[in-house]
Amino acid sequence: MPQPKKKRDYPFSGFNRTFAVQMKEISSIFTALQTSEPIVITMHQKPDPDAMGSALGLFHFLKHLGHPVKVISPTNWADFLKWMPGCDEVIDFEGDRGQAEKYLSTCKWLFCLDFNHFGRTRNMEKVLEGLSCQKVLIDHHREPQTECFNFGQSDISKSSTAEMIYDFILLSGRKDLIDKDIAACLYAGVMSDTGSFRFASTTPSVHFMVAELQSYGIDHSKIHSAVYDNFLENRLRFTGHVLSNCLEVFYEYNTALIAVPKQDILKFHIKTGDTEGLVNYPLSIKGIEMSALLIDRDEERRWSFRSKETFDCNSFARKYFNGGGHYNASGGRSFDSLEKNIELFKQALQEYTTTH
Ligand code: 5GP
Ligand code: MN
Repeated sequence: MPQPKKKRDYPFSGFNRTFAVQMKEISSIFTALQTSEPIVITMHQKPDPDAMGSALGLFHFLKHLGHPVKVISPTNWADFLKWMPGCDEVIDFEGDRGQAEKYLSTCKWLFCLDFNHFGRTRNMEKVLEGLSCQKVLIDHHREPQTECFNFGQSDISKSSTAEMIYDFILLSGRKDLIDKDIAACLYAGVMSDTGSFRFASTTPSVHFMVAELQSYGIDHSKIHSAVYDNFLENRLRFTGHVLSNCLEVFYEYNTALIAVPKQDILKFHIKTGDTEGLVNYPLSIKGIEMSALLIDRDEERRWSFRSKETFDCNSFARKYFNGGGHYNASGGRSFDSLEKNIELFKQALQEYTTTH
């Protein structure tokens, strides 16, 4: 039986690192927000529960403050987000570009949530860059493009952007405006980004926040089911298929890779959101510290990386796969073939292991 390699020491200094910030403190915007002005909120492409939950939580809050607000997603989103209060009002930039550009061109404030640079908004990138409104960043990813934002909060020690929106609301002094809808959206975001409260990012303040959110009457079991038990049969069969046929384990590197060819995506009718969580399965193998998922999407090859402890997914994705993210979770992309990507991955692993 192949055996995992010995574990490396844990690099404590890797966490809570902050970066030079040029943008102004977020607390300075509350006075300006006393005047009602059109606001657009956006998030990263293919929003996950944290991106959608934080955007909708902020959406309800700013509406309660009296602002006209629109949420615009750069792309479509998974069905398991559609239960969120306000989700049916979100505009899909790719689906209705005319409508989206109308709101973007007239807004006075643009809130960018759960992403660190405009490139994460796909076709919206150029449009966002060209806007002259006040831009606000609220995000917890590493190495944000702070020079592009007038105001903001970037904190990699935060569990989720949802937690940061909760902090934002407290900082505004208007906690009284939190209601059940806001609580449900923020709960879904923090639940998902903490892996249902099991990742290291689940600090005592996360639990205090969740206790507060529960006091608004949300049904946390229902929210969990709405996100995780809401798929069709084909998705489960697809998961079984790829775990049997597309998984390769590299014990010498304590790493595993799932590479999914396009024909499997087509055969199992896989759509947005169906591959969410797939990358985590190999981490359940004893000794596996990093898991990678490579999917052959039509227009590009998409990478996801997840790690436990010492593997720096952010640097790895940044260096080799045109991506980034967090220390233990990142993503990337490539226009090369699936085979070429697998080859590069093996070379990168070797190089990473010899240099770390
Ligand atoms: P996922 O694997 O779920 O797509 O992404 C994992 C994490 O990495 C998420 O927090 C996501 O925002 C971030 N991420 C994914 N792709 C990219 C990318 O291309 N660039 C950067 N900077 N972050 C990414
Ligand atoms: Mn997030």
